[in-house]
Amino acid sequence: TFRAIRIDKAEKGTTAALTQFDEAELMEGDVTVRVEYSALNYKDGLAVTGKAPVVRRFPMIAGIDFAGTVEQSSHPAWKAGDKVICTGWGMGETHLGAYAEKARVKGDWLVSLPGTMSARDAMAIGTAGLTAMLSVLTLEKYGLTPKDGPVVVTGAAGGVGSVATAVLSKLGYHVIASTGRMTEADYLKGLGAAEVIDRAELSGPAKPLAKERWAGGVDSVGSTTLANVLSMTKYRGAIAACGLAAGMDLPSSVAPFILRGVCLLGIDSVMCPIELRKTAWNRLASDLVPGKLTEITHEIGLDEVISAGSKILAGQVRGRIVVKIL
Ligand code: NAP
Repeated sequence: TFRAIRIDKAEKGTTAALTQFDEAELMEGDVTVRVEYSALNYKDGLAVTGKAPVVRRFPMIAGIDFAGTVEQSSHPAWKAGDKVICTGWGMGETHLGAYAEKARVKGDWLVSLPGTMSARDAMAIGTAGLTAMLSVLTLEKYGLTPKDGPVVVTGAAGGVGSVATAVLSKLGYHVIASTGRMTEADYLKGLGAAEVIDRAELSGPAKPLAKERWAGGVDSVGSTTLANVLSMTKYRGAIAACGLAAGMDLPSSVAPFILRGVCLLGIDSVMCPIELRKTAWNRLASDLVPGKLTEITHEIGLDEVISAGSKILAGQVRGRIVVKIL
């Protein structure tokens, strides 16, 4: 057996507890990994608190991302001792997840840990950081460059937002960081934000069009915030939408699209193709200064995950939380 955070179905909702899990109960997969680090993402908060039905198989081991060392493999690409990263693919939702000393997954899901990164660094980045980088890559593919004008990052003090702020500023963008926690302004400036704005400016009902403020952006908030971000995007600008921290709705209009040629780009990290993941992890290794990562990161143990889950849903987590497993 090994230690794991197990989610079970209860009469009403679900329960979560740190318990022993039987190795024989691990699901099918051709690679078994000794998990060294996991992380706490918004979705993990939903899973361990049961606030939203993200877990769809019981019993479940929560945790959507890990970094660790291959223990056993029958997959041609991997052998014992390889250092790997795994994020998404339904881990912690439909496949037994990452808050455990062991995980069994498909070799096709894995990415090599970049040479310059430790397992802890990789999880300091984690799903949130990968998503931030996928957003940046998508904006670049669209053609956005720093000379097009400022970029906005919403939910800037959160996980996705912190990494997006750090990466975009390193790439030379003038980053406008939007946060509900103005007390974190110094933290955000330390990550490279050129301006910090109060999210209240973006949270009221959106006009179809408003004064043009940015050429691009990364939105982890959704709802009226994304609607306002779109209405304030410059002619032919683009926004990468990756989150729903304020809600799943999008009370917007077609005005930004048809009158300003604004483009809304969707970002998904869970089923993202493996080649794009490899590109993103390599870019994270080069475009995220390690010192910045240290500033972003806070470490907890498996026994603290459930309480930290409530905190992330309350918007009280700054940057990223890594979970030390072994
Ligand atoms: P997080 O650390 O909790 O960051 C979310 C941030 O959003 C908070 O720190 C807060 O930032 C802001 N926020 C929270 N509640 C808000 C509200 N009611 N109104 C406005 N802003 C609010 O979570 P995360 O792990 O970075 O994830 C961020 C979002 O991206 C989540 O919705 C998550 O589900 C989504 N996500 C999507 C993908 C994907 O594949 N598309 C992958 C990862 C994450 P401030 O305090 O700075 O305002």
